[in-house]
Amino acid sequence: MAEDTALDVLRRVFGYDSFRGDQREVIDHVVEGGDALVLMPTGGGKSLCYQIPAIVRDGVGVVVSPLIALMQDQVDALRALGVRAGFLNSTLDPDERRLVEADVAAGRIDLLYLAPEALRTEPVLRLLARSRIGLFAIDEAHCVAQWGHDFRPDYLALSVLSERWPGVPRIALTATATPRTRAEIAERLHLTEPRARHFVSDFDRPNITYRIVPKKDPRRQLLTLLRSEHEGDAGIVYCLSRASVERTAEFLTANGVAALAYHAGLDAGTRARHQSRFLREDGLVMVATIAFGMGIDKPDVRFVAHLDLPKSVEGYYQETGRAGRDGLAATAWLTYGLQDVVQQRRLIESSPGEAAHRRTQAAHLDAMLALCETVGCRRRFLLDYFGSPAAPCGTCDTCLSPPTTWDGTVAAQKLLSTVYRLRHERHQSFGVGHCLDIVLGRGTEKVVRFGHDRLSVFGVGTELPEATWRAVVRQLLAQGLLAVQGEHGTLALTEASGTVLWQHREVPLRQDSTPARSTGSARSGRRTSGREQDGARSADLPPEAQKRFEALRAWRTSVAKEQGVPPYVVFHDATLRQIAADPPATLTEVAAVNGVGETKLAKYGTQVLEVLEALATSGAKDDT
Ligand code: ADP
Ligand code: ZN
Repeated sequence: MAEDTALDVLRRVFGYDSFRGDQREVIDHVVEGGDALVLMPTGGGKSLCYQIPAIVRDGVGVVVSPLIALMQDQVDALRALGVRAGFLNSTLDPDERRLVEADVAAGRIDLLYLAPEALRTEPVLRLLARSRIGLFAIDEAHCVAQWGHDFRPDYLALSVLSERWPGVPRIALTATATPRTRAEIAERLHLTEPRARHFVSDFDRPNITYRIVPKKDPRRQLLTLLRSEHEGDAGIVYCLSRASVERTAEFLTANGVAALAYHAGLDAGTRARHQSRFLREDGLVMVATIAFGMGIDKPDVRFVAHLDLPKSVEGYYQETGRAGRDGLAATAWLTYGLQDVVQQRRLIESSPGEAAHRRTQAAHLDAMLALCETVGCRRRFLLDYFGSPAAPCGTCDTCLSPPTTWDGTVAAQKLLSTVYRLRHERHQSFGVGHCLDIVLGRGTEKVVRFGHDRLSVFGVGTELPEATWRAVVRQLLAQGLLAVQGEHGTLALTEASGTVLWQHREVPLRQDSTPARSTGSARSGRRTSGREQDGARSADLPPEAQKRFEALRAWRTSVAKEQGVPPYVVFHDATLRQIAADPPATLTEVAAVNGVGETKLAKYGTQVLEVLEALATSGAKDDT
């Protein structure tokens, strides 16, 4: 029974043919009243896992989500499908709030979005106490984990759910969880097995290609990437600092790329305006700190670029996961260099708080560095990290041009012994810059004082170019064979350094390639993937279909403007592409397109046919 109902809702309301991955099982389990912990990559289709049970079950489905700024859009998207949805947060005025509360209490709403802090407030708890609740969904559930990378204390309040509403099913969902974080989430939310079922999907995002390149002139490198592969595409560029967000946005704008800035230093109005433009307009680039992006479900983000090193693999995977939710080809691109390592190590070293917390941060950073320095497949590394072994992908940068390694043992010994002797014979310690000067034999003041005879005693060689020495230092830092100390970030030895200096441990190092411009990537050489089942063809459309696609997009833009919603709330690109590629002639044929449900068919079906017909007649006139 339940299965048929769920499938019926999928087809009728959402306009999709079939469930993906674990969706079917999760939905059946929750519809029948079971608790669940769902791990699915971004774009995997988590929302349906709670939306369909909320529609099918009696009572309101309460969705806890950390980002109030997106609730309006989420609710708009559901209403556009004919689903009764609402939200309660601080952006509502008292009248609006009363309306939503009345709807909830009277059972006129299937989905109610709330921020976690709302569950600490009496009025909300009272409202829920007198309403019939169908389920609780906890979105972005990794926020409850202290070991994770995005802990939010408000999430701890969610443990009340199982106590106050023992009979109501709870479903927690996240896109980022290593086995360790997953255990912590389950523990804190009382979702341990076998009481709750855990659904762990394949974490692969086959349509995303991963590339990590040595940092030279990051903004120029980014511009080259955009011009060669992502002209006119929507994308997100992450920077570490507010200042660098501002400079990068200015740089892109000055170079003809439509870019907006987003960081916590901008006033709330500007942030909201920029976010809304990014969601509503085509082809904008958002330059942001990581304050931006959680819960952004814009399906057609074509690239995510990092100009600075993320602090953890979890963060990196979540941020890059915002690209290509529609299943079409997308790029994850990161530039990374010596200064990134020094800066991050120093930040951790000088961060206040407990030693245990610093160790957690250092472990996260180590994993991120290992990803950057790996000579193996990036995707395989990522999937391994999230607990699912995989074969090399054949599409990431390291698969396309496998980096070679060289024997860096002697170089490492020279560098480490320089640091060692400076410390033990001179009681001096220097930052990266001065240490490089010394190994390169360059006479800065401090080095001159240090004396030339010393330099030769150290066996320091100028035979390696500076770029290589920088790569040596970077990789020694990344491998934990060298450390950064104190607020000046001076270099110091670690316990492991001794194994290189005195036990002749070998040190294979990665040969930095010049950033190869893989022309055959993203746009042309896309590989087909299971997720392209949406009819979102990877190959570019033939000219006729391309014309139809453009006409449909123009129509969509005007409809979206009129209704004040993002274009993808009207139809996704994937849906328009399918229509353009194989134009329907009747309403029944429109209904068969993926992403066209009952409500959208009734609202837009005729208009779509009209757009196609107008184009066909104008095309016919041109021919005569
Ligand atoms: P997540 O929350 O896991 O990042 P979403 O729930 O936003 O992912 O889903 C990603 C995209 O996939 C959305 O555009 C959604 O409409 C689409 N989608 C989800 N499930 C299906 C399905 N069974 N068939 C086709 N498209 C789907
Ligand atoms: Zn690979």
